[in-house]
Amino acid sequence: MAGIFDHAAISRVQQANDIVDVVAEHVSLKRKGREMVGLCPFHEDHRPSMSVSPSKQIFKCFACGAGGDVLKFVQMRENLTFPQAVERLAERAGIQLESRRSTAPQRRDPVSDVDPNLLARVNAWATKFFQQCLNDPERGEVARDYLASRRISAESIARWNLGVAPNAVDALAKAAGPKIPLRLLQQGGLVAGPGQDKFVHRLMFPITDATGRFIGFGGRTLSDAGAKYINSPTTPLFDKSNTLYGLEQARHQIVATGTAVVVEGYTDVIMAHQFGCTNVVATLGTSFTTGHGRTLRRYAKRVVLVYDSDVAGVEAANRALEVCLSQRLDIKLGFVPEGKDPCDFLLVAGKEAFERIVEGATDVLLFKWDRLRAAFEGDDSLASRRTALNEFLQAVATGLAANNIPVLESGLIVNKLSKIIGLTPREINADLSRRMGRVSKTMKSDGDRRDGAEPLDWGRGLHAAAQREVLEVLLNEPALFHGRQEEISESLFSVPILRQIAGVLLDALRSNDDFSLPGLLARIEAVSLAEGLVALQAAGEEKGNYTSRLADAVEVLARYRKDSQTMRLDPEGNEARCVAESDGARARQNPHSLGLL
Ligand SMILES: [Zn+2]
Repeated sequence: MAGIFDHAAISRVQQANDIVDVVAEHVSLKRKGREMVGLCPFHEDHRPSMSVSPSKQIFKCFACGAGGDVLKFVQMRENLTFPQAVERLAERAGIQLESRRSTAPQRRDPVSDVDPNLLARVNAWATKFFQQCLNDPERGEVARDYLASRRISAESIARWNLGVAPNAVDALAKAAGPKIPLRLLQQGGLVAGPGQDKFVHRLMFPITDATGRFIGFGGRTLSDAGAKYINSPTTPLFDKSNTLYGLEQARHQIVATGTAVVVEGYTDVIMAHQFGCTNVVATLGTSFTTGHGRTLRRYAKRVVLVYDSDVAGVEAANRALEVCLSQRLDIKLGFVPEGKDPCDFLLVAGKEAFERIVEGATDVLLFKWDRLRAAFEGDDSLASRRTALNEFLQAVATGLAANNIPVLESGLIVNKLSKIIGLTPREINADLSRRMGRVSKTMKSDGDRRDGAEPLDWGRGLHAAAQREVLEVLLNEPALFHGRQEEISESLFSVPILRQIAGVLLDALRSNDDFSLPGLLARIEAVSLAEGLVALQAAGEEKGNYTSRLADAVEVLARYRKDSQTMRLDPEGNEARCVAESDGARARQNPHSLGLL
């Protein structure tokens, strides 16, 4: 498993990142005996199914089976490759990695060949530059006046790393000088061409990802020139349709409260945090996308969208709802009164009033229902009534297909609806079923749910069980290997996943290194393999009886080997294939078991 980094480096990174601390950055953990438990972020968890062991330095979910070391957690959680997870955690621990980069470069963006971490460092440098400019008596004056007029405090300015791009077309390019190549500034979207900064005379909002990397910028004009707000262009590091401003600062509170509040503007987020509402994030001048929903779903159970109550705000909210309904997020809507933005509202009305808006937020369906009723009870044209009805039915169907609306509630909805629009409940239900069919199809392509992950194939029958037993014992009582070194070899293992785990395990046992579970996991790149290893360890620990179980299992394996040698019988066996086939046949006979309701 030779990768980009040597094993010693990977182990060092793993040991420098305590798994409890890292998991706690994503999940709120409670102590339970010798372990920590919390809601598993890899499946829809309703009671704490995930345990994290401080002594073993592993995590395991008893419901969905996810498990591994700190590297696997980050790999799965942030959708990274193994080397990317190593880099991310190295950065977190402040470890300089000596990679074999020259011979095997880390994964780069195939189109532009940019190293995202290098871009993040360039952005961090630019952030510093913009901050210095803000403190410069002359260059920062206009921006400081603006910040004062919005009543953004000095603490907030520091906390959010605010800065200014001076009123000169090449200020940044000049400051970069020869030490930062123009190519990098261009790839990061900071410079449009030689001597041409992308951000000129703008208040700068550096944007970080959940781990605090500087990934891009938002810039608000300080004159009347150009668009009011512009963002960094899409780079290998930055995609504004997936990014939420303030996620790094808000995520702990979002996890702790289970609620994420989404607003629309940078200053709205900053002001909310300034007032102590610290679970607030913003979209970056785009409407709320599936990507935002997917990101928030990792941290929040509930999302409250707080928008302006003007027409644009209501329409933006309406669009956002469709997205959230299909994301299995509990979603509610709050409106700031009198056409104010949340930032001004906070300044005028204060923290409690803002919190009341969040607490009193309307249920999605109620919001849609009110729109529908307004269209039918008012003097709206037939066409606009039809649009409203269409929208409402689509929302209900999306919610039902995503299991976001209980069936009972949908019955009540259908009855109420039938009274307003003059169709029978039966007709409405038929329409809903058709829509749900279509919605389900598109939702299947939303592939990041762990529930859809392939279950591990442990093989079947006595032979496979014996292979499993050997690993279960050795993972818990490695010393037992040394009496049986002659008998136990990789060739005993025929089930693919067991053979791979045996390869890593036996290697480690023979090398006489200090044997540890995290040490083994550091040698494994594939998430599914790590999951298998953790599952075997846990099963073995529960069963105990190590010495006798190992003796029995080894004996069974030896006998199988002898039989298969004499009878030339495939040891993995027809047994396994037969069982699999009869399962398939059973499923085919009962197609209704796959039905929707
Ligand atoms: Zn789980």
